[in-house]
Amino acid sequence: MIVARTRAEIRAAVTPDTATLVPTMGALHQGHLQLVRTAKNLSRPVVVSIFVNPKQFGPSEDFTLYPRTLDADIAALESEGVDVVYVPDVADVFPADHVPVALDLGPLDEVFEGAARPGHFAGVVDVVATLFTIVQPRFAVFGQKDLQQLAVVRRLVRQLFPDVTIHAEPIVREADGLALSSRNRYLTAEQRACAPTIHQTLQTIAPALLAARDAASTRAILQGATATINSSGELDTEYLALVDGDTFQQLDRVTPNAFIITVVRAGTTRLLDNLQPGDLQPGNPAP
Ligand code: AMP
Repeated sequence: MIVARTRAEIRAAVTPDTATLVPTMGALHQGHLQLVRTAKNLSRPVVVSIFVNPKQFGPSEDFTLYPRTLDADIAALESEGVDVVYVPDVADVFPADHVPVALDLGPLDEVFEGAARPGHFAGVVDVVATLFTIVQPRFAVFGQKDLQQLAVVRRLVRQLFPDVTIHAEPIVREADGLALSSRNRYLTAEQRACAPTIHQTLQTIAPALLAARDAASTRAILQGATATINSSGELDTEYLALVDGDTFQQLDRVTPNAFIITVVRAGTTRLLDNLQPGDLQPGNPAP
């Protein structure tokens, strides 16, 4: 496995329009490694970037505290058979003369994660566009866990990188249903014990939402789910909504592209999760 620290080393190691890129911020877990396994079936070389992007963290967020486990990450990628890992410093991705890549995301940047984290998606657009320019991948793999980020990336690709194909990987979960996240390590024992309620609750309400015929019923189901998640006292739901997976506009009832999205706070840790109720329709067994 080649460990590239600069864009010049990437250029030397990777032929344009051949690679599958898996962008990450490191602190790798089985969710990331599942993305890597999928990448290997798309196109070689598989390039994994590990870069904690300062531009996507707000001033009051955990950029300096974000977990960094580079040696373990490199060992894990090596044993997965990754071809190239790109571990740049900030000046290699964003040199002094870097002109930020900007994209008008419209309402997508004004709701849910866009509203909760001003500037976050601008930072995501800039780093993904810059990584695409450096690696020039044929495919890129992203997780459905960060569903709104995926919608942003799809818009970026449609606008500026039409030759890159995006592959979305389903959420990888712990045995008890908690979505894997680099930030789960911050949970206290009490918070960790309650956290599976999030996925369980989304699964429970999915059939009810499928059966709901009007906005009032949908709203009542979502409010009930919020109360269930909050009932332990350890968890505090920031939002729980039924949205279209591309526009993130709220829906009155389930459509084929509808997702239940939620962010739940456990202390200062924000736990993201989502579920596509349409997945539960006949012929598509629950995950
Ligand atoms: P991050 O390192 O958190 O920026 O995540 C890098 C990529 O891994 C993103 O595309 C995430 O959506 C994806 N990812 C993170 N956690 C999971 C998970 N539990 N299941 C699937 N993909 C994930």
